[in-house]
Amino acid sequence: MVRCHSCGGPKLLPSPSAYVYCDYCGALSDWDFGAACAKGNALPGPAYEALHRRLAPLIRAAVQYQDVARCKALYGELFTQHIYYCPSSYSPRIVEPSYRAQYLDYFTDIMTLREIEPNVVRHTQWLDQRIRELRQAQAMQVPALALGPFRFAVLGAPMNAQFPDQAFWNVYTAFRAQYRVQLQAAEAHGALAKYPDDVSFELLERIGISTFVQGWLPFISPAAQSALLHDAKLNDSYVDVSPPALQLRRCGGCGERLDVVTGARQVICFRCGNKVDVQGAEFPCPGCGGPSSVPHRATAHTCPFCGLRSERAFSWGS
Ligand SMILES: [Zn+2]
Ligand SMILES: [Zn+2]
Ligand SMILES: [Zn+2]
Repeated sequence: MVRCHSCGGPKLLPSPSAYVYCDYCGALSDWDFGAACAKGNALPGPAYEALHRRLAPLIRAAVQYQDVARCKALYGELFTQHIYYCPSSYSPRIVEPSYRAQYLDYFTDIMTLREIEPNVVRHTQWLDQRIRELRQAQAMQVPALALGPFRFAVLGAPMNAQFPDQAFWNVYTAFRAQYRVQLQAAEAHGALAKYPDDVSFELLERIGISTFVQGWLPFISPAAQSALLHDAKLNDSYVDVSPPALQLRRCGGCGERLDVVTGARQVICFRCGNKVDVQGAEFPCPGCGGPSSVPHRATAHTCPFCGLRSERAFSWGS
């Protein structure tokens, strides 16, 4: 059983996503490695690859001139498309426009730090060198890692590929060092504070490590697999708990049915990505009378059933 780092609430409902949100306060509270693997790695497809080919030299030029703003803007263009083609690589909240904008602001900071912050650059080069050695050790041509949200998916590797244990482990330890330095730089430069969920350093580290493991697991020996899962602390299992009492609510963002646990204050709608207030009574639409729960901190409400927009203030709960 997992408890929310933010409010202490127990996780009672099954999570439809690897991003586990608290049933009581809607905080991003955990990461489910099993759910991530079940979902698989989505590939963004040829339109994104073409955009990547077009932007890559422009990004290289921006890096050469140490043009932070230009580098960030180019990555913004690239990852706007990546999110469009691969929403399943991100939090289910990514479909909500303000969440998406804030996530892009955070993530383009990270990508820019990878290109420009000297300590991160040095560790990233060290990691890239270990990956080159791995390919040489395997004596086979494995195309570059995918430029996904964490660019760890091994693309184009033959299904029977199995990397030598030691060469793989060198990649893993180089990655752990690189990723930690990257998170520390992100914290120092204020990028972590931009993350649209209220996350801890530790949770972001878990998400990154888990994504790495998910990408590489199919391509290493069974012995390396169990060593990796153990070292990354990813073999903890979820215990079933007795089903909680549920209340039916309707998402004020999209009208989706939300089954919420009794006592919940805010929950995430996995259809539209909004965080919805569910503590107080539902808001009855002045037009059609349909009740719905209003998105958190919304200053106006558009009825998800009839589209009527209500400007007047209504009470929120707290
Ligand atoms: Zn919570
Ligand atoms: Zn919704
Ligand atoms: Zn209505």
